[in-house]
Amino acid sequence: MELGYITHFVNGKAWEHGAVRQGEVYDPATGRVSAMVDFASATDVDTVVRAADRAARSWRDASLAKRTAVMFAVRQIIHERRAELAAAITAEHGKVLSDAAGEVQRGLEVVEFACGIPTSQRGFFSENVSTEVDSYSIRQALGVVAVISPFNFPAMVPLWFVPIAIACGNAVVLKPSEKDPSASVLLAQWFAEAGLPEGVFNVVHGDKEAVDALLTHRMVKAVSFVGSTPIARYVYETGTAYGKRVQALGGAKNHMVVLPDADLDLAADAAVSAGFGSAGERCMAISVVVAVDPVGDELVDKISERVARIRTGDGRRDCDMGPLVTKVHRDKVSSYVDAGERAGARLVVDGRGVAADGEATGFWLGPTLFDHVTPQMSVYTDEIFGPVLSVVRATSYDEALELVNGNPYGNGTAIYTNDGGAARRFQHEVEVGMVGVNVPIPVPMAYFSFGGWKASLFGDTHAHGAEGVHFYTRGKVVTSRWLDPHHGGVNLGFPTQH
Ligand code: NAD
Repeated sequence: MELGYITHFVNGKAWEHGAVRQGEVYDPATGRVSAMVDFASATDVDTVVRAADRAARSWRDASLAKRTAVMFAVRQIIHERRAELAAAITAEHGKVLSDAAGEVQRGLEVVEFACGIPTSQRGFFSENVSTEVDSYSIRQALGVVAVISPFNFPAMVPLWFVPIAIACGNAVVLKPSEKDPSASVLLAQWFAEAGLPEGVFNVVHGDKEAVDALLTHRMVKAVSFVGSTPIARYVYETGTAYGKRVQALGGAKNHMVVLPDADLDLAADAAVSAGFGSAGERCMAISVVVAVDPVGDELVDKISERVARIRTGDGRRDCDMGPLVTKVHRDKVSSYVDAGERAGARLVVDGRGVAADGEATGFWLGPTLFDHVTPQMSVYTDEIFGPVLSVVRATSYDEALELVNGNPYGNGTAIYTNDGGAARRFQHEVEVGMVGVNVPIPVPMAYFSFGGWKASLFGDTHAHGAEGVHFYTRGKVVTSRWLDPHHGGVNLGFPTQH
């Protein structure tokens, strides 16, 4: 197979200057390098940000009609080519094709939300705030904004941010994960085809050097970051120290609480779907099931029956679950299985040594289920980000809630119950940003906002929806008086209405 080459997308075309450093991109289902990707230096990033800054100066003046027209056009292009985008995701990330198509669909919904920017960026007008004086508020673009995205949703996470930032009148520099960079380049090409002017949407590839250059560049006004918690914290602290607006979404450890009155078949289906979909490499994956007495034994039986039927293999074949993204990550997840076993958790299903439907060299790890996990074990404390589901036993609702609220992360959670009062109490008391009631992966729709609490988000603004529009714009209030001015003479007092 010929080795591919992936480079930056700047000013409406592929970067022509090459790179001093490159990274390897793998096909996780074969374990082979499929492409080399250029890594941007700080000087490269400076060139790209300056191009974006020039583009932002005229794009901010584009009419709402023009900005909306681009969004409708790119919506159509992505819709027509969604299979191509999904294939690019599967080839570099490994998730099965149907799952990749699902993330494209969720990203597309944000583009559709951005088509409504004339409504969502609208200001307010008040007539006669004082005699013959009117006031109105407007929200204006910031300039250049940076988006730094993780490997696990190579299309959806960039699409959480990029369409709204652009629709609001900003220019974007996107730094996707170096592990699966192709989806971002396709998206940037398609925005250009949709009529977006050169330089408004740029992609730079790279690692820490490129991220640091974006975080410290004076022309970058805002940063949207998604990734692991230590890097999210670093990005937030560095970006804000350099005067930028930052929203940094971090890691997760999502609990699903199953109360004694729950429909256990429904709960078992949900635990398996949310635990092993995308091989557990989702920030909204369920990684802990909290079984409230006395449902534990029956629930674990039902979950393990379902786990046994999961087919692991090459995402392009007829499988349920693909490989992990890299060998290093697979080995790390596998080492957590070793640690859980050593710590005394009961290994109900062991995914190590799975017989996968794919080449032996792929980064395989089958679905793994632990029971009787305790909060001290590393399988419980750490974000594993792989196909490892832990069951913790609790004696009461209160104990289950304490466990969820005691966790440093607060991204997503779910409760399974047929008791409306218990569900209502849970959604009120739980300290988590996204809550599902008999829904396992409660990812908000595009017109709501996505984000967790505590160590799952640094900054106070969530992604997309109204909060996204707010993040990418700044407010201005105009107070104006026209014609027939009232000549009140000089008055040094503080202005009040009359
Ligand atoms: P990561 O933190 O390793 O990488 C994220 C981004 O940061 C990438 O673009 C990467 O190139 C860059 N980066 C990596 N190391 C860096 C460093 N030292 N300095 C500066 N930049 C650096 O995350 P990942 O492994 O790509 O993604 C998985 C993580 O993302 C998980 O923790 C997952 O929970 C989290 N995630 C969170 C959400 C959310 O909405 N909260 C969504 C998706 C993924």
